[in-house]
Amino acid sequence: MTKRLDKKQKFTFYRICVSLVLFFALMIIEHTNYFNLDNKIMFVLYLVPYLVGGGDVVKDSIRGIINLQMLDEKFLMTIATVGAFATGQYSEGVAVILFYQVGEFFQDYAVGKSRNSIQALLNIAPEYANVVSEDGSIAVVDPEDVKIGDILLVKPGEKFPIDGTVIEGSGLINTSALTGESMPRDVNKGDEVFSGCINGDSPIIIVADKVYDDSTVAVILEMVENASSRKSKTEAFITRFAKYYTPIVVGGALLLAVIPPFFTGEISTWILRACTFLVISCPCALVISIPLSFFCGIGAASREGILIKGSNYLEILGQMSTLVSDKTGTLTEGTFKISSINSSSKYSKKELLKIAASIEALSTHPIAVSICSSFEGEKYEALDVVNVPGKGITAIINGKKALAGNVALLEENSIETHGVETNGTCVYVAYDNDFVGSIEVSDHIKNEAAESIEELYDAGLKNIVMLTGDNEQSAARVASELGIKDFRFSLLPQDKVTVFEEILEDTHIRNPKEKVAFVGDGINDAPVLSRADVGIAMGSLGSDAAIEAADVVIMDDQLSKIPIALKIAHKIMRISKMNIVFVIGIKVLFLILGALGIAGMWAAVFADVGVAVICILNSMRCLKKQKA
Ligand code: ADP
Ligand code: MG
Repeated sequence: MTKRLDKKQKFTFYRICVSLVLFFALMIIEHTNYFNLDNKIMFVLYLVPYLVGGGDVVKDSIRGIINLQMLDEKFLMTIATVGAFATGQYSEGVAVILFYQVGEFFQDYAVGKSRNSIQALLNIAPEYANVVSEDGSIAVVDPEDVKIGDILLVKPGEKFPIDGTVIEGSGLINTSALTGESMPRDVNKGDEVFSGCINGDSPIIIVADKVYDDSTVAVILEMVENASSRKSKTEAFITRFAKYYTPIVVGGALLLAVIPPFFTGEISTWILRACTFLVISCPCALVISIPLSFFCGIGAASREGILIKGSNYLEILGQMSTLVSDKTGTLTEGTFKISSINSSSKYSKKELLKIAASIEALSTHPIAVSICSSFEGEKYEALDVVNVPGKGITAIINGKKALAGNVALLEENSIETHGVETNGTCVYVAYDNDFVGSIEVSDHIKNEAAESIEELYDAGLKNIVMLTGDNEQSAARVASELGIKDFRFSLLPQDKVTVFEEILEDTHIRNPKEKVAFVGDGINDAPVLSRADVGIAMGSLGSDAAIEAADVVIMDDQLSKIPIALKIAHKIMRISKMNIVFVIGIKVLFLILGALGIAGMWAAVFADVGVAVICILNSMRCLKKQKA
């Protein structure tokens, strides 16, 4: 075990060992009465393991007194042990300080261990970049010094230092540090790659698209670093609790030492009881274990490719009762395929597709992307392109107005869509005030979507609502396949915000403790993401806007990560509550027993150190990988 300790920890470890040996030897000598030693000599002898084991605690608390910041646990320990010595309980005095040190040592080790494992999980920061200069020579530079447009060589097994595009080479890359996904991803020339991924077996040359600070790795690392500064209510409660609790307890101990002796006259008995009281009351079990469980929970989630921006969001996830979800790209793949093309009598199918592709070439909408990719050949030149959010796109071709979009867009332009029946998503095309035809496109529901929805209901969600800009038929089909009862359709982007706010308000009126989450793919839903109690963005690898707006980011676009996040959140809340109840229960019980003189110093040591160790072990369970 000593191999994994740092220098300071090792020193403490040996000190504790030496002190423990001395302590037990003295206990034997005292109890067998072999040497028949005088009380004063015993005092001096016990002082040796006391100072060896706990000298630093005494020193720190004296420093605390000088700085007038004395209400910490070290101060409590020093007062209690000095009191024990003063009343002749030498062995108890040594025991308290020694076991306190053992507990501290253990805490230090545990916190260090979870910190290390989170750092290992997030060991994604690239150390260097190989910049290829024009003459072909390679310079190894700091990733921060890479400029946009620099050509970088990423050798097999190296991390991609920066977000970029592949210009030469291809192969499998490992994205697991970012996405939690163990299957390697295939990349080829022209594909985007993200910093933090690890290159597989063949060298790949990329061109830098971003500077380091805007690259995925830097964005994620910054997010994780800030996570601990956003405190959950539970953590805030513990901090407040400790602030009032410690002075109250010190006051209580003082009264216990001063008042009863007036009536009974047994000064030393009551001083000892007051000391016991102080040891029991030490709040460190909570002060350390509660933030530790949140810390471990965020770590466990990030290992799954779920980035949670703060403990507060983890807590809200645990209280979420309603999930509102976007359809396209979130519940469905967001990659459309053309299922049929119907042109009106005046136009050929080819011509219809050509007009559509010419306009759509300038849109990034998933429907547009699919139409463009199924058209080969020369396109018309499209001018004055206007994106009509939630409806479609318009442009001028050969001096005439051309449209591609849904019924609403055509109605807006008073064009009739005669003779078209659809039960899916349809793109209607018009040219020069004339209806050209329609292209029916279909999108696949994500593989594990139905299971994930079921798991969410199982995890205790009351309500799942789907919002979409798509028409009633496609919305109904997706909703029924997924088992979603509540869905709203034909929504313009601004309608989504209004509908979401209604749902939010209804839920909060019903029960202010219930929280509403929104999950979207980050494409045109940032306004809703930011209004939600907790906004979840998915599939956002490389999308800074979504990472900015969301509170929880799912790096790959797996819906199944939401039930996992929920389970982690529930577990953290359960473990934190367990710790709070356990600690307060035990402390109150032992405080009463201590004040009555039933629980002595040894019991106090358990109530302090024992309880702290149990709570820390309990919190560390949060770090374990969650079974899906
Ligand atoms: P979603 O809720 O599915 O994300 P959007 O608000 O992006 O929907 O779009 C709503 C509807 O508007 C789509 O279902 C589609 O019919 C139409 N639409 C939007 N943009 C385009 C486009 N570029 N080309 C064709 N149709 C579009
Ligand atoms: Mg969308």
